[in-house]
Amino acid sequence: MRLEEVLSALAAEVSGARAQDLVAEIARFHRTQASPGYDDALDLVRRRLSARGIPSRVHEYPADGRSKTYEWTAPPGWTVRGGCLVQTAPAEERLTSFEETPTCVVVHSPPGAFEGDLVHVGQGSAGAEYGGTDVEGRVVLASGRAAAVAKQAAVRGAVGVVVYPDDERAAASHDLVVYHSIYPTADEIPRLIPAFSVSRRTADALLRRLSHGPVRVRGRVDAEFTDRPLRVLEASLDGSDPGAGEVLLVAHLCHPRPSANDNASGSAVLIEAAGALRALADRLPLRNGVRFLWVPEFYGTLPWAAAHEPELRRVLHAVNLDMVGQSPERIGEPLRVFRAPNHLPSYVHAVIEPLLAGIVALSLTAPGGSRRPLHWSFDPPTGGSDHLVFAAAPHGIPSFMIGHDDPYWHTSLDGVDKVDPTRLACAGVLACALAALPTVTADDDRLFGWLLTYGAREFARAVALAGSGDPAASPELLDLALSIEEARARSFDNVGCDRRMQELLNRHRAALRELRNHYAGFAGGAARGTDGDRPRRAVDGPLVYAVTDLLNDSELQFFKDKLSANHRALAEGLLALCDGSRTARQIALQLSLDAGRLVPVEDIDEGIALFRRVGYVR
Ligand SMILES: [Zn+2]
Repeated sequence: MRLEEVLSALAAEVSGARAQDLVAEIARFHRTQASPGYDDALDLVRRRLSARGIPSRVHEYPADGRSKTYEWTAPPGWTVRGGCLVQTAPAEERLTSFEETPTCVVVHSPPGAFEGDLVHVGQGSAGAEYGGTDVEGRVVLASGRAAAVAKQAAVRGAVGVVVYPDDERAAASHDLVVYHSIYPTADEIPRLIPAFSVSRRTADALLRRLSHGPVRVRGRVDAEFTDRPLRVLEASLDGSDPGAGEVLLVAHLCHPRPSANDNASGSAVLIEAAGALRALADRLPLRNGVRFLWVPEFYGTLPWAAAHEPELRRVLHAVNLDMVGQSPERIGEPLRVFRAPNHLPSYVHAVIEPLLAGIVALSLTAPGGSRRPLHWSFDPPTGGSDHLVFAAAPHGIPSFMIGHDDPYWHTSLDGVDKVDPTRLACAGVLACALAALPTVTADDDRLFGWLLTYGAREFARAVALAGSGDPAASPELLDLALSIEEARARSFDNVGCDRRMQELLNRHRAALRELRNHYAGFAGGAARGTDGDRPRRAVDGPLVYAVTDLLNDSELQFFKDKLSANHRALAEGLLALCDGSRTARQIALQLSLDAGRLVPVEDIDEGIALFRRVGYVR
């Protein structure tokens, strides 16, 4: 079957309206990791799969604040039943409550009640900001991350914490209440103090009153730490050829109520995709298998992946669906597909454009959904979610993320009203097509044209990059691009294609080398030496989120300025490229091709030194 036929078959089977209903159902649960609401949502997914003839199984991992996968410590199980924050002076006024705004109780807030005078400490996440301010017995008001503020406030004797969004976070709405979590270890739990999150509007009112005199607040959190485990749901569809490998699709099911786009949307699309591929099994028989995972983000994915390392060797590529339903009218565009980094080359890169062009050509419209044409972009690698788990050592799977920018992300305003059924349908067709890709492309000759078009663009990019700063890097960048494009073509070998396709593949390699020489005519300079230290990473798994806690002030500033763009994509790439085979200069060039800008070798040197100091690199 040709790609276009597959896409129209999928479009007829995937229902945006059904996916929208699933989003609404999932969004009703307060589904923080290892909580009753998460488990209820997981049961719902199981029932919906089962109704479509898809069996599933549940894997459990400890949520005890102690168990570790690589450097990641599992969060504790946590159940919240209620909470409210009241101003008691100068006048009594209810500020927020869990019943109305579930994100107002900071996740992992300990149970308890407090009352005290409010004291504003600015951002409040670093010790220096507290200066001589006495917060003992008082309630800290701050705009930093709740986890950091709570730590600073607790050691200074504060009884409670209230965080609010800074200018940037509040830009979309002064009424949004940001979702914060603490992720304490078991040892840290006894020292926690209750923490609330309020809107900018509420915080501004408190700050105005504070400028006239004392403000007193009272808070109460009804919650408990439990030994309820982290649960991962897995379903799979077998392919007809066990040698043809698998595609892995993952969506995180966790987050507070409603978290509709993040990520009831991805979870719902994954159900819809599994249902569509199952329903089409006769008309669209797949040679490759497809595996589906609904997870608590990172904390369930990591132990699941570590426990399934041998099976994961069969996976050709992984796709993370993370915020895929944004309404173009209410949130904007585009739908973003994030590349896998170049050190994990995959032929999928070359197919993304024809694939998405094919989806646009379908002019999908779900009942009641947007009628705008789909706008999409194919972007540099990003971090921040589960695709990192599969891309990182020891797995090294080319892993893509499909997502969206969204100012309401991780806030109380990420509601079902901002999800569009047409976009869910587009994401569903895209997810299914990516799952079917090994089978579909194995008999489509056009693959070589797509690979060559993609390769030519990458060579042109390499030349332009070198021209933008360091012409001497041209030959190296071009050679690097050539080796990446050759490896990209080789990645297709893994899907097991026939003799004719193999022959085309060989011709493609020759054409790539010719193209490289063609572009070399526009590049100057001579290659540099390749001497130097070849760092090697010491720890598997993605970079732990809390690595910043190990950094001193100047390291932290460097990390934020130079390695943190795109949700730390550069930091992740740097770690992955420390495999004992590359010098800092080679790593810098490779990352330049990933990021689409010249990455200075000095930054890489400094990054390696930083990772050495915190034990990530030998
Ligand atoms: Zn999220």
